[in-house]
Amino acid sequence: AKSSGKACYRVFDETMRERAELHMQLEEQLNVAIERDELVIAYQPIVSLTSGQLDGVEALIRWQHPDYGLIMPDRFIPIAEESDLIIQIESWVLDRACQQWVDWQKNLGDKAPKCVHVNLSRKQLLLPEMVQRVADVLAKYRMPPGSLHLEVTESMIMEEMETGIAKLKELRQLGVRIDMDDFGTGHSSLSCLHEFPIDVLKVDRSFVANLKNVKDYAALLEAVLVLADNLGLKVVAEGIETKEQLVLLQSLDCELGQGYFFAKPLFAEDLENFVHDFHQR
Ligand code: C2E
Ligand code: CA
Ligand code: CA
Ligand code: CA
Repeated sequence: AKSSGKACYRVFDETMRERAELHMQLEEQLNVAIERDELVIAYQPIVSLTSGQLDGVEALIRWQHPDYGLIMPDRFIPIAEESDLIIQIESWVLDRACQQWVDWQKNLGDKAPKCVHVNLSRKQLLLPEMVQRVADVLAKYRMPPGSLHLEVTESMIMEEMETGIAKLKELRQLGVRIDMDDFGTGHSSLSCLHEFPIDVLKVDRSFVANLKNVKDYAALLEAVLVLADNLGLKVVAEGIETKEQLVLLQSLDCELGQGYFFAKPLFAEDLENFVHDFHQR
């Protein structure tokens, strides 16, 4: 038993070391990933649950690594967040996503997504020149500010209440819309909601996943929808995977939805094909 324990320990040790090495390697390579053009954006459709029409898209970053293939953001965003690399990466995403949106307005006409949603990290939100950067990108592409949604999480706002809220107010003064991402996973109480300068609530997919099994979730979601309506907020249900979930959400009058049921995040060309097929249905 003792020797196998040792063997186990050694295996564990190896993995830890390997993980640390991989971490360092990725951090180093991430530094040049932008220059080497290895970052790509996938766009996931957000659909109107009432009309069935495409509403917008969310920009989600991926890293096309020369050796490891496609790396998902959960793997490298946390590494980027440890340094100022995250700021470079997100500035790149913001620029590219806006450029892409403007291209789609020209190429897809009335089938084009009405807005593009971009995720922000805490570091980026609190960056002093953040608001100016957003203003610069909007001006660069002559993009109507209302077509850009910036997604922040409740924990990001809660951690730095005053500064966070002030920043969001400045952004909204530009005309940009603010989404609260992953709503329901943080610790803000419903009574705080009216203090946040936001336009959209994105209800986390754990809510949607539990709708069928846990009765209380439907009641809770109904309460959130009523509250959102009173506060003039739109609601996006995240992570819709089944027809059943869609029907339930429609019966609760949820306005917008996103999830694999409609489409996975798609690279630009696939999104264009999706848009054409989607409108032919
Ligand atoms: P998120 O903002 O909550 O994005 C939604 C995630 O849920 C995406 O994962 C998407 O692929 C996944 N998803 C969408 N529909 C479904 C569904 O029906 N079922 C399931 N199981 N999953 C679904 P992804 O693309 O891996 O992104 C993960 C997270 O990485 C994002 O979560 C976001 O927090 C972060 N992220 C992505 N791009 C950026 C970025 O440019 N900046 C920052 N700061 N974070 C980013
Ligand atoms: Ca998001
Ligand atoms: Ca989310
Ligand atoms: Ca998330």
